Amino acid sequence: MSHGFQHRSARAGALLGANESPFAPPAWIRMSVCREAGRLNRYPDPDCRPLRDALARQHDVPADHVVVGNGAAELLFALGSAVTDGDANYVFAWPSYYLYPRLAALRGAEPRAVPLDRDERHDLEAMLGAVDSRTRLLLVCDPNNPTGTAVAPAMLAHAVDRSPPGAVVALDEAYCEFNPNGQARRSIGLLGRGKDVVLLRTFSKAYGLAGARVGYALCSSRELAARLEAVRPPFAVGSTGQSAALAALGRQAEIEQRIARLERTREALTAGLLDLGLAPADSVANFAWTRLPETLADQDVVERLAARRVFVAAGSELCGINGLRITCGTPQERSRTLSALPAAMEEARG
Ligand SMILES: *Cc1c(COP(=O)(O)O)cnc(C)c1O
Repeated sequence: MSHGFQHRSARAGALLGANESPFAPPAWIRMSVCREAGRLNRYPDPDCRPLRDALARQHDVPADHVVVGNGAAELLFALGSAVTDGDANYVFAWPSYYLYPRLAALRGAEPRAVPLDRDERHDLEAMLGAVDSRTRLLLVCDPNNPTGTAVAPAMLAHAVDRSPPGAVVALDEAYCEFNPNGQARRSIGLLGRGKDVVLLRTFSKAYGLAGARVGYALCSSRELAARLEAVRPPFAVGSTGQSAALAALGRQAEIEQRIARLERTREALTAGLLDLGLAPADSVANFAWTRLPETLADQDVVERLAARRVFVAAGSELCGINGLRITCGTPQERSRTLSALPAAMEEARG
């Protein structure tokens, strides 16, 4: 399976295919990485101690409930292998993050994909209906990738309360910082409902550090955190990544400004897609998603856009749905995309 985008960092143009931040790391993050570079002959801190402590303070959770990983992707796989086995199944929505169906391959668990509803949101009632006594993991992507849609907070609490004993509810919150309803803070409350819950977060998206490879899990108990740690490779998070993430946490206000700029771009991008006669989903992430009519193959549109140096992701490659996922870049990149799209669609209709 592909990642749905090509790695194009070597090319000039608007790189809007991987939900990265358009902003290069600020000088104070680069300096902390440089300082760490002088110690690269040494192994990194295997416990990510200062970073875990800072995350624990930020979210007001005990430090031994925090697991830091080599991106949230590593923690997703750790979760898959820690809680499932060949007799188990796990439930997630579809279309959603391309890695979810692959978590099964590891331990032979059965993947159960439940379609999104008509508004391209998680259908949590249907997902709960797919749960049985062999379900070990209920995976909710909130906001969802690639649609950007969010789950109603009350529904999340309901799903946690209804989850069967022996199952872990995992919220993949890679984009939660972009959700204007304050879910990033509110979901911490889900950790205290007496169920096994994991919140997965990352420095790759809102914090703009995708190349540093740092993600983390907030777990509802020390035992659950220990189960994750037990299946992870040692020293998975490098020292430069740890220090970049720690530096970013130290200047939260500047990160918030960057998030606000991307939210404005998202609103303008969504409005622009509507003006073009498309039907974008109600995204609260750092990207827009729109399905395309059958007469318009997403890969053709993606190619025509690439010829204009605008690189976006084809839904057919991400999740088998004919559509476009367009990351919020700079305002310039947004207007470039919106002005390139009509001609690209026209040519693709051929
Ligand atoms: C980007 C992303 C991740 C993983 O990000 P990392 O770079 O591995 O931290 C996880 N889940 C979703 C839904 C994502 O979009």
